[in-house]
Amino acid sequence: MAAIKLDGTALARQLKEEIRQEAAQLERRPGLAVILVGDDPASQVYVRGKERDCQECGFYSEKYALPASTTQEELLDLVEVLNQREDIDGILLQLPLPKGLDPTPVLEAIRPDKDVDCFHPENVGRLTLGQARFLPCTPGGVMYMLEQYGIEVAGKSCVVLGRSNIVGKPMSLLLLQKDGTVTTAHSRTSDVAQLCAQADILVSAVGQVGLITKEMVKEGAVVVDVAMNQDENGKLCGDVCQEEVAQRAGYLTPVPGGVGPMTRAMLMRNTLQAAKKR
Ligand code: NAP
Repeated sequence: MAAIKLDGTALARQLKEEIRQEAAQLERRPGLAVILVGDDPASQVYVRGKERDCQECGFYSEKYALPASTTQEELLDLVEVLNQREDIDGILLQLPLPKGLDPTPVLEAIRPDKDVDCFHPENVGRLTLGQARFLPCTPGGVMYMLEQYGIEVAGKSCVVLGRSNIVGKPMSLLLLQKDGTVTTAHSRTSDVAQLCAQADILVSAVGQVGLITKEMVKEGAVVVDVAMNQDENGKLCGDVCQEEVAQRAGYLTPVPGGVGPMTRAMLMRNTLQAAKKR
């Protein structure tokens, strides 16, 4: 039997509509500022998507498209101005930054209550303590999906492939907080295939085309493909061999149309939350 598709596109549409309705009740529109430095084409596409999401949710948005020659000080100055602005609830620094610019001090300069990407050490600390102010967008989007499809995490064996600060680590934390028994695998993990084959919930966030084959998936497992790769024809794909894994998994996220749209919707949710709290 083919796996049930975890439809991120439909869920994100529904969530953004709920956000739009809630935002319309506020005295002031939520405001998001997006800072883009340099001319990385993928980043430009992501930023355009975020602007579109803001429009759909009825948010105010501002884009700062800065040249690659921008200095660290100029970036910090801009963040300081945005920190003080009453009409800006969320500040997002689009990564990666061009060579020569260090993202860490800039991310740390963003006011924690405007850090809607959840990268500030204070917010990461709060997340770790189970006192999250915002959920990091990608893992938060995955958790939202699981919840909406009625997928129970408690007591399940969860395997997360990847340990980045953006995806793998917070993903493992959120699953743990929902009482999953979590194993975080990485490039030094031995016998990843065997580990995966025992998972009730498998989340792959590696960035390697064709990594997850049918043999690595337990019958009926929930398989979440976070990765965004390009196949040999330049087409967007994840880590999972979708066709064959769909024959064995119980649930599967498509790529595109799975985790990606949920990530974007969660950014809108965080911005709404930031606006409501301020
Ligand atoms: P990253 O920083 O490159 O991390 C990749 C992780 O995979 C690392 O922790 C690495 O281990 C681990 N790894 C490498 N080979 C492995 C293997 N064979 N088995 C298990 N783990 C392995 O990437 P990222 O930023 O976390 O992103 C991961 C993927 O998700 C990328 O394709 C990215 O484009 C995508 N992504 C998607 C969204 C979305 O909205 N859908 C959002 C963010 C990222 P080491 O730590 O040992 O190197």
